[in-house]
Formats: sequence, structure tokens, C-alpha cells
Amino acid sequence: MTKRPMNQTSRQRGSIHTLLSRPSPFGNESGSLPVGEFPPNVDSSGTYNREGLTQKILVVGAGGLGCEILKDLGMLQIVREVTVIDLDTIDVTNLNRQFLFRQKDVGSSKAVTAASFINARCPWMKVTPYHGKIQDKDSEFYKQFSVVISGLDNIEARRWLNGMMSSLVQFDEDGDPVPETIIPLIDGGTEGFSGQSRVILPRITSCFECSLDTFAPSKAVPLCTIAETPRIPEHCIAWAFILQWPKVFEKKLDADSPDDMKWVFETAAKRANQFGIEGVTYMLTLGVVKNIIPAVASTNAIVSAACVNEALKVLTFCSQSLNTYMMYIGSESINSYTFIMEQKENCPVCTTHTHKLTLSGSTTLNELLQQLIEGEYRLQAPSITSSSKTLYMRKPVALEAATRANLDKPLKDLITSGEELVVTDQVFPDTSLGLVVTFV
Ligand SMILES: [Zn+2]
Repeated sequence: MTKRPMNQTSRQRGSIHTLLSRPSPFGNESGSLPVGEFPPNVDSSGTYNREGLTQKILVVGAGGLGCEILKDLGMLQIVREVTVIDLDTIDVTNLNRQFLFRQKDVGSSKAVTAASFINARCPWMKVTPYHGKIQDKDSEFYKQFSVVISGLDNIEARRWLNGMMSSLVQFDEDGDPVPETIIPLIDGGTEGFSGQSRVILPRITSCFECSLDTFAPSKAVPLCTIAETPRIPEHCIAWAFILQWPKVFEKKLDADSPDDMKWVFETAAKRANQFGIEGVTYMLTLGVVKNIIPAVASTNAIVSAACVNEALKVLTFCSQSLNTYMMYIGSESINSYTFIMEQKENCPVCTTHTHKLTLSGSTTLNELLQQLIEGEYRLQAPSITSSSKTLYMRKPVALEAATRANLDKPLKDLITSGEELVVTDQVFPDTSLGLVVTFV
């Protein structure tokens, strides 16, 4: 079969160059989001550059969303340089939707495999893979990109990335963010038939941390509940695979083995029966043990397309950016809407707010740290210093040992009321939290 030659006019009409070389009636400068400060992709004479975009793009995650994002970037045909980072390897269960992977790739790095697939298929775009954790890379790495598109499936990694992008913003002497240091972060997320895409301009719009309340805290259940007072089917399943499996078997539970999972399911079902709890199913057992967020290919496709659309807009200035949040709901009908997610007044990442706590002076340092972990800040492993001394540091080991004794001391023996403390945590890279503790 011979290919029908495309006539020049229709090729031009279908080209993204048409869109990018003409002024948009919906330019950002007239919009509510102040992205007008980012320069459009034109050369010094103001002429559109047909060679493609010179900016580098970082794609975080090469899974369900990441594969779609890379494909969409490739299909734009004007993106030249992309880096993709992912620590995962390919599992056989990924193959139904992570379409850059084949059976032969099972066990290989997602980032490396996705990059070589795209590089072979879209020779106009060079994808550089990095197989590893986002936390392995420092601010110098993240600084080189003009936009970061995140397709992560876990909250903690998204918090870290958001913190990193926020920490890159520098301020001028008036305290205003320096526009060149603001790297837009496009955050995509999906869960089953729902998903969202949002544009985060660090330190200008609301950030991921601002909306942390909208994500349920991790479903960690105390072991004593699981062992003694189960209330919901998930507790029975946790009892079976956390507490019973090691008692009965010497080998590690293999969540991909149907025999192993059948045993966990049956054990959990018996337990549920004893406590009169309904709802333990094989599917739920798989979900709890593997901690699966249900993945739907069409949701990934829609959310990724929305993310890449936003990335194109912040890179080329061709239209008004999303302000700031797009929600997609596909469970009952096809429905989407946008809204402005407001900045949280005391967001620990994107505001320079000193946080205040009122506590009894007899509260121990350890109790304060627990409050920071379990309270609204949802920190993971905070370290804390005062202006005069290190109160508690988790690293290095020697410093941890030297400050450990402070944990059991009451605050009144360590600090004065109203003193400003500095809290650091691995969840916020290069950022600290100012905390003023006043005694009642
Ligand atoms: Zn924020």
C-alpha cells in the first residue's frame, strides 16, 4: 500500500505550529494566573521557533500516568529533551495499561524501558531515563528543567517533590519570588475512575501541601487493633498476612502467588466470621496486601493529556493556564470541572509563616514531636533545633545519640516560652518550619 501524500494545507492546519505561531486570544497576561511573566518560546526577534522547544522537561514516574505523559509529549512532535525518573521495575500486572512495556520487559526498569521505547518510536525527542528515587536527586538536578510533570501514585513522594520545587524559588530584596526560579509543577493523580490535574506555580499558587487535607491520611492501623479488636474487613486481612502468615510459614508472603493469596483470603475470612465482620473478598485481600490503588487506563489517559496540555501552555505561552485544579470524575458519567484551590494560609511549604503551638511546659520533647507527626502537619521524622542548641536530630547517628536524652525532658527544661524553634523533616527537602511554642 502506498501512503497518500498529505497536501501542504491540511498538514499545516493539523500542525501544532499553527497554534504556537499565532497570538492567542486567551493569552496568560489577560488571565487570572500571573504566568505572563514566563517568556514565550520565541527568539529574540519575537519570531516563533519552528525547531521545537529548547526547554527540558522532567517526567516523574513512568507508570500508568508516566507512560501516557511520555507518549503525549512525543506526539506533540516539538518537545526535544525529556528526563524520566522512576524507581520501579515492571510487573506483569502493569502490562494492561502501561503500554510502553511488553512481556519481555517484566523485571526491567520502568524508566529505562519507557525511555528506550519512546526513543525508538519518536526519534525527534530524546528521553533520558533515571532508575532511582526522586530523593536521590538534589536541587541542582531539578533546577535544570523548565517544567516538571508528576505522575506519581503516592502522596509522600508528591509531597517531597512539591517541597523540592518550592525550595528552588528565590526571593528578591522586596520579598517577591524571582520569576526565573519558579518552575511550574504539573501534578497529575488518579484513583480508579477519578483523577485530577493541577498547575502549581511554586510560591504563587496553592501547592500540593496546601491541599493535603483532601487526601486521607495513610490507612495505618495500630497493630493492637489488628491483633485484638478488628472492626472492618481490612483489619482481618491485615491480621492474616501480617500476624498469621509468619507464624505458619517460613517463606515470605508472595503477593503475586495465587496460592499464597488464597491462604490469606481464607484465613482473613475465618477471622471476619468470628467477629461478625462482613466484606472480606479475594479482591479486597489483593488490594490490602498489595496496597493497590485501582488503576483505570482511560482515567490515566485523560489526566495525562490534561497534564501535558498544561505543560505545553506554560512552556509556550499559547493559552491561559488551568487555574489551578481540574477534577475528572468518570465513575457515574463523564464529568469534569475546574476550580481555584486556594493557598492554605499557614502552609508549611509555600508560605513563610511561623507556626504557633500552645502547650504545657511539662510536655516532653517527644510528645511535641509526636504531635507534629500525628497532627495537621503530618511530618514523618522531624528533627528540631532552637536558636541556641540542637534539641533532637535524627542524623547523623552520633548526633542522634547525643540528643536522644532530650526526648524525655519537659520542654520547660529545654526552651523558654515563646522561643522560635526550627523543625526539619525528610518530607520537606531543603525547607524548614518555624515553630513558636508558648507555655500555658
Ligand atoms: Zn502550600
